[in-house]
Amino acid sequence: MTKISRRLFLKKAVAGLAVAAVAPSLASCEELGGDSHKIRKIAPLAGKYDVVVVGGGPAGFIAAIAAARQGAKTAIIERYGFFGGMATIGYVAPISVFALKNELVIGGIPWEFVKRLESMGGAFIEWPKANIDFDIELYKLCCQRMILEAGIDIYTHSAMVGCEMEGKSISSVIIENKNGLETLESKVFIDCTGDGDLAHMAEVPMQPNPEGELQPSSFCFILSGVDTKSDLLNKCMYHNGINGPSQCKPVREKLLAMKAAGVDLPDFGGPWFNNVMHEGSVAVNITRRAADSTNNRNFSAVECQLREDIFTFTRVLKENFKEFKNCYVSATAPQAGIRESRRILGVHTVTADEYVNAFRYEDSISRGIHPIDIHASKGTHQTRIDLTKPAYVPYRALITAEYPNLLVAGRCISTDRQALASLRVMASCMGTGQAAGAAAAQCVANNQTVQNIDTAQLVATLKEWGAVL
Ligand SMILES: Cc1cc2nc3c(=O)[nH]c(=O)nc-3n(C[C@H](O)[C@H](O)[C@H](O)COP(=O)(O)OP(=O)(O)OC[C@H]3O[C@@H](n4cnc5c(N)ncnc54)[C@H](O)[C@@H]3O)c2cc1C
Repeated sequence: MTKISRRLFLKKAVAGLAVAAVAPSLASCEELGGDSHKIRKIAPLAGKYDVVVVGGGPAGFIAAIAAARQGAKTAIIERYGFFGGMATIGYVAPISVFALKNELVIGGIPWEFVKRLESMGGAFIEWPKANIDFDIELYKLCCQRMILEAGIDIYTHSAMVGCEMEGKSISSVIIENKNGLETLESKVFIDCTGDGDLAHMAEVPMQPNPEGELQPSSFCFILSGVDTKSDLLNKCMYHNGINGPSQCKPVREKLLAMKAAGVDLPDFGGPWFNNVMHEGSVAVNITRRAADSTNNRNFSAVECQLREDIFTFTRVLKENFKEFKNCYVSATAPQAGIRESRRILGVHTVTADEYVNAFRYEDSISRGIHPIDIHASKGTHQTRIDLTKPAYVPYRALITAEYPNLLVAGRCISTDRQALASLRVMASCMGTGQAAGAAAAQCVANNQTVQNIDTAQLVATLKEWGAVL
């Protein structure tokens, strides 16, 4: 007898409506008392896999490619119609950070992706740190090409809404899309949802948050009609300190002065004006409000306020800076960006102390070099600790002690708040995604649990691919 996770996103109330003919609800699956045979009638089996990756962001699409290239029959589930996660659904840029003084810190498939995107005219590598500016639409195209070339089955426009459990083992995930509910069975699952949705549904214990604070959400947008050739923008649009700090100081100072003078402005961060590789346009990261992305009502309400803030700041920029006098909002991101939410309580939790001291674990599978970068949830502050040496991530931060076929990668791995504040950046998420994908395929090939694999073999595979460890 399997148990269907009771931590569901679909409301019970849906079961009472006459929706069954259109799309059966997960609530009705639950009422079947975990009888898999009956559940399949409501949520038919769409595929049986070796590895299912949930979430197609930087961690997820790299994890899926890594697993598939090792011969695992792989599927990827993504609730939007394209891949890239925060890069393409949040307009978050650049991809930070691949190198220290021109030396790669993260290699392998993530770097292959960057080089492929560059060859398509969609990436500009900012040496010596190798922050990656990118064209958002080419990013999506490059992701989908690499995913399809690896032979991965894609389930886009599909939200993962539940899972079936046999003890602590996940036997399937349930997705919802225009077909209704569908089931995907798999030997191993990788949670790359950013928010740890699958781990949460499987009732994996999460990191405590005694401070009760989360880094704020920021709604990024594209501003066009900007004088990107001007001195001001040229100094602000790049991130390696070549042209000064990436935060746009003159604009920040003006906004702070306006706030101090009593002008009613929302809180803001930066601001950062990021290169999207098209003259006249920048991706703007300026808005900031406390939000909990795992609480639908809270997140929806805050996102509406942030949308208002986008237009407030656009007006202020137009009125106060000649470089922005003709600017207009040409696009808002599909959703507000999320910096922090759930993280699993893994076999090992990476601490800030280990992280800044570049502690090297026996099972190190990825690295990071972005500063520990904490945005205040209220106000305009940000604290930042620069790293002098690349920090390491152990395999044990991607797994729990008890769940034999679950790995996580990206933002929801097992770290404390401070270490997350560095590891959350996209190159680092790609690095843990690569390791999770390789580990999942290894589990399948050797018929082992995620706790029992030979990490020396995993590290050897990663090095063969060019991972820098
Ligand atoms: C405002 C802001 C600025 C940032 N600036 C930078 C920066 O300059 N450089 C940098 O490198 N990083 C930056 N980051 C951090 C970085 O973007 C994220 O931490 C990173 O993208 C996390 O990667 P991920 O793959 O773990 O998750 P995400 O990128 O969040 O991807 C998760 C994917 O899973 C999908 N998904 C989620 N739940 C489900 C579900 N239930 N079913 C199906 N699909 C699901 C989502 O749609 C998404 O595609 C910033 C973040 C924010 C919010």
